[in-house]
Parts: sequence; C-alpha cells; structure tokens
Amino acid sequence: MNGYWSDIFIGSKSLVTGLLITAREFFKPVVTEQYPYEVPTMTPLFRGHIELIGNEETGAPNCVVCGMCQRACPSECISLDGKKAEGGKGKVLISYMLDFTKCSLCGSCVESCNFNALRFSKEYNLASFDKNDFIMDLLKRLEDQNRCKQ
Ligand code: SF4
Ligand code: SF4
Repeated sequence: MNGYWSDIFIGSKSLVTGLLITAREFFKPVVTEQYPYEVPTMTPLFRGHIELIGNEETGAPNCVVCGMCQRACPSECISLDGKKAEGGKGKVLISYMLDFTKCSLCGSCVESCNFNALRFSKEYNLASFDKNDFIMDLLKRLEDQNRCKQ
C-alpha cells in the first residue's frame, strides 16, 4: 500500500513540476524564427556559395578575367571566359560558371581575387532534387540582382 501512495506522490510532483516549467516558458519572449515565413539574417562570416561583385554605379562585374580564382580552386569548380574589351584595354567577362556540387567553400578563390570581384553570398536556402540546379551561372545571377535593384 505504501508503494501505491508514494507512486501517486511522485507522479503528481513530476506533473506539477512539468506544468510549472511549461507555464514559465509560456510567458517568455519567443526566440525561435518562423522559417520559412521569416527570412533569417545571416551572420557576417556566413559562407554561402560564391558570387560576383558588381560595380556600385554600373552594376558591371568587377572581374577582369585574370583567372586567378579558377587556378586557385582545388576542386575545379570554376570555369570562366572573357573577350577583349571593345576600344579598351583588358577583357570583359562573358561567362562565369560555378559547379557548386564540388565546392567545399574553402575560400581560396575569394582570397585569390585582387579585384574585389568575388565574395561569399548569404544564400542559405538551397535544396533541390536536381543536381543541375547547382551548376550556377554567376554572371546571370549578378545581372538578375542588378535588375532587381532598378
Ligand atoms: S580572381 Fe577575381 S578578377 Fe580574376 S577572374 Fe577571378 S573573379 Fe575575376
Ligand atoms: S570556395 Fe574553394 S572549392 Fe569553392 S569554388 Fe572557391 S576555391 Fe573552389
């Protein structure tokens, strides 16, 4: 009989303790983010896939097609191409492709760029059943971003 009453006592104590914790948490401010309804802000050091940086005024890529990032990449993720600039010196970027399926986010490409043309994006929302969705046209991405700013 003693065991019967002590079980009831322990069970009731446990129930009350649980309810008190629930009541206390109920009145605390909400700290969870309502993803995907709310867009979280990524920290400054967050590394999404790489992206091209455009000129602040014209939006044109800062890239001078030197090829350093391509050579620095240990995973051969980057392929780019340029053409001779019309009536000027140097080259103009015409294609910049990233194979994100092979990227380890090591940062060698970003570090190797001396022209402030490459950085890590804040893109975190990547999911797909199709591998081809991660073969990224970064020049087109920059153009789309420029269009959104207008
Ligand atoms: S290192 Fe910079 S400037 Fe050179 S090709 Fe890569 S992104 Fe362009
Ligand atoms: S972060 Fe590293 S692996 Fe990814 S593209 Fe740049 S150099 Fe290549």
